[in-house]
Amino acid sequence: MSEIAFRSFLPELVAIRRRLHQMPETGYEERQTSAFVADLLSGWGLEVTRDIAATGLVATLDRGGDGRALGLRADMDGLPVTEETGAVYASRTPGMMHACGHDGHTTMLIGAAFRLLQDDDFRGKVHFIFQPAEETAGGAARMIEEGLFERFPCDAVFALHNYPGLTSGRFSAKPGAMMAAIDAATLTVRGAGGHGARPEDTVDPVVAASSVVMALQTAVSRNVPPQEAGVITIGAFHAGSACNVIPDEAVLEVSLRATDPAVRTRLCRRFEEIAQAQATSFGAEARIDWQVGYPVTMNDAASVDLAAAAVRDAFGEDAFEPLDRPMMGSEDFAFMLEKVKGAYLFLGNGDSAGLHSSRYDFNDALLERGPIFFHALAKRFFA
Ligand SMILES: [Zn+2]
Ligand SMILES: [Zn+2]
Repeated sequence: MSEIAFRSFLPELVAIRRRLHQMPETGYEERQTSAFVADLLSGWGLEVTRDIAATGLVATLDRGGDGRALGLRADMDGLPVTEETGAVYASRTPGMMHACGHDGHTTMLIGAAFRLLQDDDFRGKVHFIFQPAEETAGGAARMIEEGLFERFPCDAVFALHNYPGLTSGRFSAKPGAMMAAIDAATLTVRGAGGHGARPEDTVDPVVAASSVVMALQTAVSRNVPPQEAGVITIGAFHAGSACNVIPDEAVLEVSLRATDPAVRTRLCRRFEEIAQAQATSFGAEARIDWQVGYPVTMNDAASVDLAAAAVRDAFGEDAFEPLDRPMMGSEDFAFMLEKVKGAYLFLGNGDSAGLHSSRYDFNDALLERGPIFFHALAKRFFA
């Protein structure tokens, strides 16, 4: 491995990251990003397969080895957020920005491909998976549906996500549940509305839906074992338009999170039961429309150990910080970990604004850390 070649490539990696930062694209719209990555990596001689799940792609480095293959994944999508970083390389697309650092993840994986290409002694097969639509649309699930792991069988998969607040360049993960499952639903409560002065002629969905909101608070406190974690958040409650008109509909946006698959199932079932029964008790009707759900991000213990060992190989003992509890956020890499064992790790972004903030920016110092980690991981994996 030529360290000199990698060091001299670092300014180019920073330029790539900032270029991607300027052109954020949301889920399944990552056409320019995808084409940029595909052209670059095929130009380096990697075998690139495009158009998996619309804008996803896989670049393969095949250096023989023992017949196994390692999957390394980055996400490419930006968010509908108006950037307020003031950076010279700020988004050039109004109302859109890389507020979750996926520009950095994509660039770190490009850097990993560069490092592995430079290592003449490396033996093994690596699939670099660049996925679309991590944020809400489940791009990982769609890549799997479109045959990701049949076309590119992997024996293990790994991914990194930057983490604001964690020391810059420090890695962290835990075995088992790493991130929570999320399920989102729209709850529509319907019943006759009418004149605000004649409630006796109405059902009043506002009152019925309010009762649903209050009753749902017992799902976590009474239906989830105290040792387990669950969250139900009613993030939106829309109904009515005037003080003296009882509307005939209330629409609630609900998210449910859990770090255990059984708790996830129970919370979703209790949500349905409580919403239906509460609405019925007022003479109203409840309709639940489930949107995309992400499973629990479940890390394989041996894979976490392997990744931690790779971190320590490359950066020393202190560079890996075991995570004691799962995070209640969610991640669609969970779909890949349901199919192939592996691990998802945080990489400290240092003292930056939080993810999804209009003032967030990816820490370019990680563009060195990430590729060195992936390289060390691949060497360990095929050792
Ligand atoms: Zn995000
Ligand atoms: Zn993200």
